[in-house]
Amino acid sequence: MLILKAKCPCGSGQDYSDCCKLIHTGKAKALTAEALMRSRFSAYYLGQQQPELASYLLNTWCPSTRPNSMELTDQPNWVRLKIWQTQAGQPNDKQGIVEFSAFYLDGLFQLEFREKSYFQRNPEGDWCYLRGDILKN
Ligand SMILES: [Zn+2]
Repeated sequence: MLILKAKCPCGSGQDYSDCCKLIHTGKAKALTAEALMRSRFSAYYLGQQQPELASYLLNTWCPSTRPNSMELTDQPNWVRLKIWQTQAGQPNDKQGIVEFSAFYLDGLFQLEFREKSYFQRNPEGDWCYLRGDILKN
């Protein structure tokens, strides 16, 4: 049987099954704010084909700012993620900031969504997405 392997959308260079899929399926934890950021981008990227990943995005949203529901079926065609910088967000930190650009296709054009995202720990001690400052859209 041929098993097709796909590179992870987060840009790590690893296969999806060895990278964000482990986090999406609860087999591994995002140990840093950047790892959570990457796994959340992968969920948005895959959302058109796997709309059930919306629950992953909700679960990794901090309870204080989490929306009641979300749909992934109307996501744009995400292309790739570029991390510009991170502040804190390491395994021993309580807060972290990740500035990134996510590129998506609009017809023939590749457009940029740039955000400075703020992460903190949820009540269980895991990283969660708190909010973001949109820098370019
Ligand atoms: Zn990944």
